[in-house]
Order: sequence, then C-alpha cells, then structure tokens
Amino acid sequence: MTERVRDAGYDDFVDSLEDGAGYYLQCAEGHGSLPPRRVCPHCGDRDLTERALPETGEVVAHTVVHVPTPRFIDDAPYITAVVDFGEVQLTGQVVDVEPDSMTDGISVSPSVSRTETNDDRLIVFESR
Ligand SMILES: [Zn+2]
Repeated sequence: MTERVRDAGYDDFVDSLEDGAGYYLQCAEGHGSLPPRRVCPHCGDRDLTERALPETGEVVAHTVVHVPTPRFIDDAPYITAVVDFGEVQLTGQVVDVEPDSMTDGISVSPSVSRTETNDDRLIVFESR
C-alpha cells in the first residue's frame, strides 16, 4: 500500500481554498506571497500575516495544453492560466471555458477539483 506524502504548506493552502477560505501571506511591507513561506520572498521579512484571498481574480496569461505531462494525460486539452489576485498570482486550470474562446482579462474565481487522470487535487478557475 502506498501512502501519499502530504506537502504540508501547499496542502493546507489547497484545503483552505477547498473550504472557500483561501488566503495568502503578507509581510509588513505589504508584499504578498503564497503559502508555504516563513519569510517574505521579496524582502526577507519574517513577520507574515494571513490575508483572505479575493473571491475573484483576473486572467493575465493562459496556455491551451494539448500534449500534457502524464499526470494530466486524460485531461487534455485543457487551459492553464495565471490569475492575478492583486498581491498574489495563482496558476491553475480554467474548467468552464472552451479552449477556442479563452481570452486573457476575464474574471475567474478559484476552487479545488480533481484531475481526470488520477484524482489528484488541483487548483481550478471558473469564469464569473
Ligand atoms: Zn516583504
């Protein structure tokens, strides 16, 4: 029997997103970063505070993946997008837009789904 190794900080972050309570970390200087972090990646500040992730973000870049890695082999074609939430950016799959009609600039909200391939959890976005 194989046991899944939990990536503590990242899994906690995905848990929070799945519960509708996504968050990011902010240092005293106002820099945003994603968990897991102990120090601000921008200035080295160790005083990080959890902040609520905004409910919607804006797609700033996307790619339609036709030839995926094995982890996503049954999911293709799919859209991978970088979404800007102001202080932080998240990368995930856009699940409710056809690849042909995908454009940058649309508003999306994050949640958590499972891959078609092996039921791994992943961050997904739905258009708003
Ligand atoms: Zn900082």
